[in-house]
Amino acid sequence: SRVLDARGEADEQQVEAALRPKRLADFPGQTRVRDQLDLVLQAAKGRGAAPDHILLSGPPGLGKTTLAMIVAAELERPIRVTSGPAIQHAGDLAAVLSSLDEGEVLFLDEIHRMARAAEEMLYLAMEDFRVDVIVGKGAGATAIPLELPPFTVVGATTRSGLLPAPLRDRFGFTGHLDFYAPEDLALILARSAGLLKVDADAAAIEVIAGRSRGTPRIANRLLRRVRDWAQVHGSGRVDVAATQAALELFDVDELGLDRLDRAVLDALCRRYAGGPVGIATLAVAVGEESDTVETVAEPYLVRQGFIIRTPRGRAASPLAWSHLGLTAPAGTGI
Ligand code: ATP
Repeated sequence: SRVLDARGEADEQQVEAALRPKRLADFPGQTRVRDQLDLVLQAAKGRGAAPDHILLSGPPGLGKTTLAMIVAAELERPIRVTSGPAIQHAGDLAAVLSSLDEGEVLFLDEIHRMARAAEEMLYLAMEDFRVDVIVGKGAGATAIPLELPPFTVVGATTRSGLLPAPLRDRFGFTGHLDFYAPEDLALILARSAGLLKVDADAAAIEVIAGRSRGTPRIANRLLRRVRDWAQVHGSGRVDVAATQAALELFDVDELGLDRLDRAVLDALCRRYAGGPVGIATLAVAVGEESDTVETVAEPYLVRQGFIIRTPRGRAASPLAWSHLGLTAPAGTGI
């Protein structure tokens, strides 16, 4: 079943790739970041130079990888894709950097998870277009400087706060991606439905858009699950009835919260009396990694006003209590 799982995952990734907009003009939502990027890229192209390094930050599934691909497409340059966790040693990074072509875009996903030694090499390379290649070992080791052609780093991170300041400072432009408005998600879904050749009612698309946690990846995924439901149990058409049945089957509630979201709220209210409680404690209570709770669940819950971040930890808002159908204890002070 592992093989099947792996294949299922690969299929999903292929579908995701097929649904990515290819140019800035086809990218709905994030108007601010889009306009800013458009300016940076157009100006660089006009000068015939590589643009400043670009950092994209924001919760998962909002389009960081998609935008990195778009940067390369707009610049008409090739893109090299790697990620922080794949760079465990400075040597891994040196190998990538020394093989870049002039003007190439280097996409570094999860850049905050790169090895420390590599971080240092990266910011020197970003600044001076140079790496020091270490030859030999111990006392006889020498650093041989290697010139690099100009290139553009596009870094993506869910945790820009974890980047060391010297690295963060090497990015000439940082775009902060935010959750999408339902109207933008509806545009994305209509486009995806067309690409997937799924017959979808506008009303159904509106329901899916409203329950996708402001996240295109989730919207596209829900659309595929509703399509599945419609194919197996319905008329094949994505309509409101099929949408409601599929959303219920996949544990997406009226406000679009999923199982993890509700588990977090539930632990916060029932187990910790509304908090404040630290994220690590909350993560243990729901059986998840701290990082997952902090980057996947929390941002949307905070954004929607369910959770309040306080200096002493996370606290439940009145909305959290009422969403769970509970009464907030008197005197919680929040
Ligand atoms: P992660 O950090 O988890 O890798 P990400 O922010 O890089 O996520 P992407 O992989 O770019 O997100 O996007 C996830 C999916 O959502 C892709 O299938 C992509 O097609 C779709 N998507 C993201 N943003 C948009 C958008 N503005 N318009 C259309 N589709 C989008």
